[in-house]
Amino acid sequence: MIDLHTHTLFSDGVLLPSELVYRAKIKGYRAIALTDHVDYSNIDLVIPRINKVASTLSPKYRISVLPGAEITYVPPELIKKTVTLARKLGAKIVVIHGETPAETVPKGTNLAGITSGADILAHPGYITEKEAHLAKKNGVCLEITTRKGHNAANRHVASIARKTGAKLVLNTDSHAPENLLDAAKIRETLRRAGLKHSDYEKMRANSYNIIKRRKD
Ligand SMILES: [Zn+2]
Ligand SMILES: [Zn+2]
Repeated sequence: MIDLHTHTLFSDGVLLPSELVYRAKIKGYRAIALTDHVDYSNIDLVIPRINKVASTLSPKYRISVLPGAEITYVPPELIKKTVTLARKLGAKIVVIHGETPAETVPKGTNLAGITSGADILAHPGYITEKEAHLAKKNGVCLEITTRKGHNAANRHVASIARKTGAKLVLNTDSHAPENLLDAAKIRETLRRAGLKHSDYEKMRANSYNIIKRRKD
């Protein structure tokens, strides 16, 4: 299993990176990205620390740990600049906190995220067909999420991806150990989103390709 969107106590997750990574390994994960919430207030504190722990844990626990960040509630016009800064600080996987139906995210976040150089537009809610076309063109993956609330638009995201050819990834947005991926959660999420097991395999390949692209 590959999961490119998780949180530790460097933002609002409940586990230390070491525990989250170890629990993921026990669950059978092959790769995990640590993508804590960042904006201009904490980006320079969080990413270097996540970097440090990721490079320590990867060889010890024999799981690929990717340092990342989720750019969250940054005004749309500043998202691109923030992505550039995140990369400069060492984030390999950059996720944008998209326009989920569960929260009031600034309008224009999806569009700004798609054109920012990020890897994944997380929980993009009722993303438009035009935005999905642009995501495809820019190589930005749209997220199918197992997270309650955000997952309300999964079926819409899956159908618009089918229509436009935009690529999907499956992530958990884990904030606690019980959020981590397992076979039952995958099956349930696919069923509710109207996706098949073959779609899951494609999503996994898309996640793997992001890792390949971003790894040194
Ligand atoms: Zn988010
Ligand atoms: Zn998140």
